[in-house]
Amino acid sequence: MSTSERVPHPDLAALGLPEEAALSKLASQLYGMPPAGSSWNKTDEVAAPFYFQDYASLEKGGIHAPGQLSAAPQLAAVAPPAGFDVELVRRDFPILSERVNGRPLIWLDNAATTQKPRAVIERLAKFYEHENSNIHRAAHELAARATDAYEEAREKSRAFLNAGSPNEIVFVRGATEAINLVAQSWGRQHIQAGDEIIVSHLEHHANIVPWKHLADEKGAVLKVIPVDDDGQILLEQYANLLGPKTKLVSFTQVSNALGTVTPAQQMVAMAHAAGALVLVDGAQSVSHMKVDVQALNADWFVFSGHKVFGPTGIGVLYGKEELLNATQPWQGGGNMIEDVTFERIRYQKAPNKFEAGTGNIADAVGLGAALDYVNRIGMHNIAAYEHYLLSYATRLMKEVPGLRQIGTAPDKASVLSFVLAGYETEEVGKALNKEGVAVRSGHHCAQPILRRFGLEATVRPSLAFYNTCGEIDTLVSVLHRLRSARPIKVV
Ligand code: PLP
Repeated sequence: MSTSERVPHPDLAALGLPEEAALSKLASQLYGMPPAGSSWNKTDEVAAPFYFQDYASLEKGGIHAPGQLSAAPQLAAVAPPAGFDVELVRRDFPILSERVNGRPLIWLDNAATTQKPRAVIERLAKFYEHENSNIHRAAHELAARATDAYEEAREKSRAFLNAGSPNEIVFVRGATEAINLVAQSWGRQHIQAGDEIIVSHLEHHANIVPWKHLADEKGAVLKVIPVDDDGQILLEQYANLLGPKTKLVSFTQVSNALGTVTPAQQMVAMAHAAGALVLVDGAQSVSHMKVDVQALNADWFVFSGHKVFGPTGIGVLYGKEELLNATQPWQGGGNMIEDVTFERIRYQKAPNKFEAGTGNIADAVGLGAALDYVNRIGMHNIAAYEHYLLSYATRLMKEVPGLRQIGTAPDKASVLSFVLAGYETEEVGKALNKEGVAVRSGHHCAQPILRRFGLEATVRPSLAFYNTCGEIDTLVSVLHRLRSARPIKVV
């Protein structure tokens, strides 16, 4: 997409000004504003003029004229993939036509949850209109339809992850439930006093709390892989943590708070070499990159449907078939038994063994539709386009004075956490919301990693393939406006 095709922020449009990136660059040239990350002191605020307004005086002074700024052409460091038409893609998502506070909705809260394409919404409606029944248990037509649809969704999930068998795909509520399932079944069965469980500093609470519970219950020890100042795993220190007492390593493939992509395959291999089993949390990775669980070789891999354009309340626990079959069940009830007497119970094999009771049948089917949709767009296109967007946004955000980006690992996916000097994160979130921009501000259920950077909260825009450069421009223009309202000076 060329810069001229982008929709400018309404404030800029009203002023007839060129795009925000140019303005931001201009502002820093004009005011000598500090680069991102500079120290500042609120008492040193200076009364700089609102930089949009000062553009006119610059123009008069003949320094620059609109359209002659050099910043814009330099922005596209990487090109969007040829043949990927974001405007076409956006038409598949009805909610993206929504207006919020009189402005077009700009959904930059994709790490919290993703929006749903019409294909998913219609698939859910079709299920309830034509197929709804409980599964596996009846001889009637609708039971057959519902069972087929549910098992097809399992097969689609298998193919999506390149698992060896649909028996390795357990439907659960989401990543949280999947991790709890492993902790409460395999963990209780195998972890003993003195054993060590390793997690990384990057983890979401969902990948800390279940292990901490287990460690406390069993007298095991929870160890933490540190990260560097960019937010990348320190592999040497990880290697030093691994040892004969390590029974389990559990870490995320992409950090929800920083966007760091961890060297997952290497980390899995290192854990295996030490004799430990490995769970990889894919909640933030599956929507951004191709995952191949056979190549990754993790023993378990988990993700949530709602973060990959599917419904809430459904997710996947992948586990190696032999391992699942050797693991005790978690919950007991219908659907998971082969035979029950009052004296003894025989369980079915995986995956049914772990799907006690009536599952979330319709949403599993909806998840299947979401995975079909993602496959149609093509994960390579998604990854390439998001990389382009991330580079574009990172570059623009760097030009906002007093903005500190949190999470600067070279290998990142779609998360743009930051703090803005002089503002509470919540204030930034509210200001953005007024302009229709949805971002998350807070601790993102990842308090340990934010504290590693001396913070309790960040603002976290997070991208999906339906976001545009124009939306990033709007985000950044609001940040510049906030900056102008509370200017800062380097001390
Ligand atoms: N793991 C990571 C990295 C996450 O980002 C999240 C949610 O944000 C989870 C686990 C938990 O996902 P859910 O709440 O869908 O179970």
